[in-house]
Amino acid sequence: MDQQDLSWLQRHISGAVLLPGTPAYDQAVVIDNGRVQLRPRFIVQANSTQDVVTTLAYCKQNDLRLTTKGGGHSAAGYSLNAGGVVLDLSLMTAIELDTERRVVKVQMGARWHAVYVYLINSGTGLIPIGGGCPTVGIPGFMQGGGYSFVSRSYGLSVDNLVSITLVTVDGKVRKLSADASDPFDRELFWACRGGGGGNWGVAVDMEIKVHLPNTEKMLTGQIRYSPDRAQEVLGFYNRWVETLPNEMAVYGIWGLIPDPSNPAQKIQTFGFTAIYNGEFGAGAKLLQPLLELGPLTVSLNQITLPEFELINGATTLVANRSAYIRAGMMPPGAFKPECIAVFERFMASAPSPDSFIVWTHAGGRIEEFPDDSTGFAHRAARFVPELKAIWDQPQDTRANVEWAHAFFAALEPFFSGAYVNYIDPLLDHWARKYYLDHYPRLLRIKQQCDPDGFLAFQQGVGSDFEPDLSLPLNLAPLNRTFVD
Ligand SMILES: Cc1cc2nc3c(=O)[nH]c(=O)nc-3n(C[C@H](O)[C@H](O)[C@H](O)COP(=O)(O)OP(=O)(O)OC[C@H]3O[C@@H](n4cnc5c(N)ncnc54)[C@H](O)[C@@H]3O)c2cc1C
Repeated sequence: MDQQDLSWLQRHISGAVLLPGTPAYDQAVVIDNGRVQLRPRFIVQANSTQDVVTTLAYCKQNDLRLTTKGGGHSAAGYSLNAGGVVLDLSLMTAIELDTERRVVKVQMGARWHAVYVYLINSGTGLIPIGGGCPTVGIPGFMQGGGYSFVSRSYGLSVDNLVSITLVTVDGKVRKLSADASDPFDRELFWACRGGGGGNWGVAVDMEIKVHLPNTEKMLTGQIRYSPDRAQEVLGFYNRWVETLPNEMAVYGIWGLIPDPSNPAQKIQTFGFTAIYNGEFGAGAKLLQPLLELGPLTVSLNQITLPEFELINGATTLVANRSAYIRAGMMPPGAFKPECIAVFERFMASAPSPDSFIVWTHAGGRIEEFPDDSTGFAHRAARFVPELKAIWDQPQDTRANVEWAHAFFAALEPFFSGAYVNYIDPLLDHWARKYYLDHYPRLLRIKQQCDPDGFLAFQQGVGSDFEPDLSLPLNLAPLNRTFVD
C-alpha cells in the first residue's frame, strides 16, 4: 500500500482519510481514557454505508487490520489500534424519530448526548434506554448490553433494540432483527445484543425503542455517608434493595465529594444515586429508610431523565486523564460483611485520591427476559461495580494498576462474572466471565461471520489471549489492541 493507493481510497469514499500529523487525525485519536495512546496508520471517517463497505474491502485487500470507533469509551481503548486502520463513524450522526412506532433510528456516529437532546427537543417526553454518561457512543454500549438508569423499568438497552444495519466482513449490508428472514441474520442479531462491540462487523445504524416514562420528571437523589458507616449502611442496602419496585433504581458510588462543611476541601464518602420512574412523593417515601440512616448529605430533585443524564453523566468521565478500569457482576445479596470490608480496605489505601467506584443497580425488568433472548449473559446480576483508578503522572501507572487489580481480585469471590462493556485487558478467563455459557454460541456465530478472524483483537470472541498475572504484572496488554 502506498500513497497512490490511499488517494484511490480517498477518491472512492465520500468521507475523509486522515493521516498522522494533521489536526483532524490528532483529534480523532482522543478517547475518554487518556492513558491509551495507540496510533493507527490512518483513519477513515466514513460518511455512508457505502464508505464502510469500501473501507472494509480496501483493508482486506491490503492486509490492513481494522478497528471501528464509535464513542471511544472502551475502557481498554479497543476502538483504536497501533499500525492498523481506524474506521471512525463520527460523521454519521443522523437521528430520526418515528413517534407512531416509538422508535428512534440512529446512525452509529451519534452519542447518547445527541439522542437525549433530540428527544428533549421533540417535545414528546419519550426517553431511550441509554447510557448514564451522555458522551458514551451507542454502538459499543449497545453491543455489550447497555445498563440505563431505567433498565429496571424497561430492560437493558439491547432489550429495546429493534434492528441493526451491519456490514459484515464479506461486504454484505445486513438488516438484522429478531424477525429477519435469513436465520443467520437472526443469529447475528442475537450476538450483537450482548456479544460485545468489534466482533461481528461494522454497525451503521440502529432502530431503538423509546418509552414514555411514568412521569415526565423523575425523582433523582444523591445520598452520601461517611466511610466508617459502610458496614451498617451497605449491609442494610444489600437487603433493602430486594424490596424495591422496578421503578426505583439505587446505584452506588464511593469516592471524593466537596466537604459539606468546607466545600474547598474534598472528603471520601460512599452513598447512592437514586432514580425513581414515578411521582416524587412515592419515590421519597421509598427512600425514607436510607434517609433514616443518618447520611452526611442528601439532595432530592425532580428532573426529566435525559436532563439528569446530561448533568450527572460527566461525573464518571475519565476526561482524558490516565485510567485503568475494572468491573464485576454481583448476584443479589453480594454485599456481605467480608465484601464490604474489601471495599473499605482498598478505598482507604488508594494510591490516587481521584479513583472511585460506581455500581449499577440491576434486576427488575432485566431479569424478566429469558436468559437466551439475547447474547447478554448476566440477567441475574444485581450489582455491577466499576472501579476507575485515575492518575496523571506516567510514573504512577504501576502503583495504580496494581492497586486496582488487587482490589477487584479480592472481590472475585463475590462476583458471578464480568461486564464486557467495562472491558479489562488484565482480567483472567475473560471469555468465560464476560459471556458465561453463551460463549460457545457466540463462538459459532463468529466463525461463520468472520471465518478468517479479520476483526480479531486481544479480547475479541475467538481470541485465546490470557493475561500473565504473575507479579510484577505485565502491563503490555493495557497498551495494545492486537495480540501480535
Ligand atoms: C463515562 C462512561 C460512562 C459509562 N456509562 C455506562 C452506562 O451507564 N451503562 C453501560 O452499560 N455502560 C456504560 N459505559 C460503558 C460503555 O457502554 C462502553 O465503554 C462502550 O463500549 C462504549 O461504547 P463506545 O461506542 O463509546 O465505545 P468505542 O470505544 O468506540 O467502542 C467499543 C467497542 O465497540 C467497537 N465498535 C465501536 N463502534 C462500532 C461499530 N459501529 N460497529 C461495530 N463495533 C463497533 C469498538 O471497536 C470497540 O471494540 C460507560 C463508559 C464510560 C467511559
